Amino acid sequence: MMDRSVTSAESIERALQAGEDAGLRYVYSGNISIGKGENTCCPKCGLSLIERSGYFATIKGLNGMFCSSCGENIAGVWE
Ligand SMILES: [Zn+2]
Repeated sequence: MMDRSVTSAESIERALQAGEDAGLRYVYSGNISIGKGENTCCPKCGLSLIERSGYFATIKGLNGMFCSSCGENIAGVWE
């Protein structure tokens, strides 16, 4: 796919917003630094649950399968 141009940050931000507007709960971007769009946040309180930077991801705000701030059940497999 080297014959395609790079997707712009603006396009990715629009895609993130479209996902949130459609009701998706865990929308994030990948491999691009555009602020909090890289992270997975709690859909109830907004706490950053998983923080990403480049290819690295760190679980920050989970207590087992629950948000460590508000206790929201966060869907996923956390091992
Ligand atoms: Zn929460």
